[in-house]
Amino acid sequence: MSDCIFCKIAAGELPSGKVYEDDELLAFHDIHPFARVHVLIIPKLHIATLAECMPEHESLLGKMLLLAPRLAKELGLSAGFKTLINTGRGGGQEVFHIHVHVFGGGEPAPHAQS
Ligand code: AMP
Ligand code: ZN
Repeated sequence: MSDCIFCKIAAGELPSGKVYEDDELLAFHDIHPFARVHVLIIPKLHIATLAECMPEHESLLGKMLLLAPRLAKELGLSAGFKTLINTGRGGGQEVFHIHVHVFGGGEPAPHAQS
């Protein structure tokens, strides 16, 4: 997806505050953090939303979720953290490349409060 900002980040065409990378996944600091720690986990594969995921994406989704506690621990969120996947316009999604928000520490923004 040539016009997808997260594809460009995954391809190294745009800078990011990278905290993790492997063959399938990338994680980086959110540019507008709503907590002391706020990173995004994305697949390198372009999938627009969680609603577009198919059975063949099961393993990839599992890897994204399993990375969350690992990064949270590495980034100092030992007391716990939040995860968020916005899906579709009605779900507050702004970037249409699937991503998991992992955040915690400090005050979350109102829309992120549980
Ligand atoms: P969502 O509303 O779930 O689609 O969230 C998109 C998130 O991507 C927002 O929290 C933005 O701050 C973040 N974001 C947008 N562009 C960038 C970027 N270039 N680098 C890091 N985070 C970004
Ligand atoms: Zn993309």
